[in-house]
Amino acid sequence: MKTNLLHLTLAEARDGLKKKIFSAVELTEAYLKAMGEHRHLNAYILETPELALEQALKSDKRLAKGEGRALEGLPLAIKDLFCTEGIQTTAGSHILEGFKPPYESTITQNLKNEGAVFLGKTNLDEFAMGSANITSYFGSVNSPWKRQDGKELTPGGSSGGAAAAVSAGLAIAATGSDTGGSIRQPASFTGTVGIKPTYGRCSRWGMVAFASSLDQAGPITRDVRDAAIMLEAMASYDPKDSTSSSREIPCFEKVVGQGVKGLRVGIPKEYRLDGLRDDVLSLWEQGIKWLQEAGAEIVNINLPHTKYSLPTYYVLAPAEASANLARYDGVRYGLRVRGKTLDELYENTRSEGFGEEVQRRILIGTYVLSAGYFDAYYVKAQKIRALVTHDFEAAFQKVDMILTPTTPTPAFALDERSTDPVVMYLNDVLTVSVNLARLPAISVPAGFSQEGLPLGLQLIGPAFDENVLFRGGRVLEEAANFQPWLHKKSSSSL
Ligand code: GLN
Repeated sequence: MKTNLLHLTLAEARDGLKKKIFSAVELTEAYLKAMGEHRHLNAYILETPELALEQALKSDKRLAKGEGRALEGLPLAIKDLFCTEGIQTTAGSHILEGFKPPYESTITQNLKNEGAVFLGKTNLDEFAMGSANITSYFGSVNSPWKRQDGKELTPGGSSGGAAAAVSAGLAIAATGSDTGGSIRQPASFTGTVGIKPTYGRCSRWGMVAFASSLDQAGPITRDVRDAAIMLEAMASYDPKDSTSSSREIPCFEKVVGQGVKGLRVGIPKEYRLDGLRDDVLSLWEQGIKWLQEAGAEIVNINLPHTKYSLPTYYVLAPAEASANLARYDGVRYGLRVRGKTLDELYENTRSEGFGEEVQRRILIGTYVLSAGYFDAYYVKAQKIRALVTHDFEAAFQKVDMILTPTTPTPAFALDERSTDPVVMYLNDVLTVSVNLARLPAISVPAGFSQEGLPLGLQLIGPAFDENVLFRGGRVLEEAANFQPWLHKKSSSSL
């Protein structure tokens, strides 16, 4: 057993609690202390130490009676996109500052039901719109990883706070959400595991909506087994979300060690995009070899509509966002900026309450939905979405999973990316197709860039077959032997 409580995986901490090597209160206190020492990372918008200690104490009582549930006493971070009853939920936006939901999201309720301890609410891009965690009203998040030039790096986005927390030892695992890559890209940038499950696996009830047909919750963790444990606890059929699936939820943890012998892995040539760096390409080659050595058959496949995915996403996601964000009118939630008339109150509240990126998305969204442009943009994008989905359906006739890099580059410095929003949107080029097709995909830390920063590989599976991702993900993780605590510069390991 590792001695540093902050380096344990969920599975290891679960064992330690069961064997009474430490208590849930001790574990929680260690994390709360680390959070206090790493506030410069800005990973949390709100810390909830009282709640955490109260939950940990209750867990210890249950553990003493041998009644522990799946996540009993395990300290988690919650992305501040999930409504938590009576606890401020902001979605990273000024417009929701001070909003204390009168209800609990299904995801956080499920985690509570399994005995989890909540350390706090993590920072994110405003309404989960972004790829660098720089659009949060509560400030950007710094990655715990450092480059030789010492510049502050992005942990990715939008689940940047969650990924930074798990990577720096400020939570054992965290919840994230992924509309176009927001779990997988931050996981890749911070050397953590992130899985976006099949659309419908996790209830969206109580998760602040960005683009409802794309949004899915999922975990960010330290290894693949932990991702399986977390997803099993998070997933459920929920009558309160009409898109939630009633399919049986397998015991994901059981399949983790089953390997990939005999499985067919597809390599899509359309993902060899111009902007992919050499170190990313060679890691992809390495991943192919690892899976082959583990007994998988490698098959070249085609996903011909890949190049249309990004523009399609950036029509559909803003369209849905503009409709979802109409509810923030200064009357019902959070911020209210008064005016002489009701229209002025709406205008003042929305101008002050929403940041620039959110306003841009609302404008794009209302534009593509407006009467004159609806057919040209929105309807066309829906048609392309169907073609992208069909590409994957055809591919999964031939293969069991697909291997690609997660991101075109490693993490960049916070001040390094151009202010052109389209350049930022290009970060998502390898992740958005999966959301359009409603498929599951995992990012696993598989190696390092030439500057010594983490890089992830992505496995994509057929709908409702997360099992294959846990099997493949575990093989990659073992082969890569990725050891984050040896490299970290500003984490709790020091
Ligand atoms: N980066 C993408 C965007 O800005 C995806 C965000 C997400 O998955 N929530 O829309």
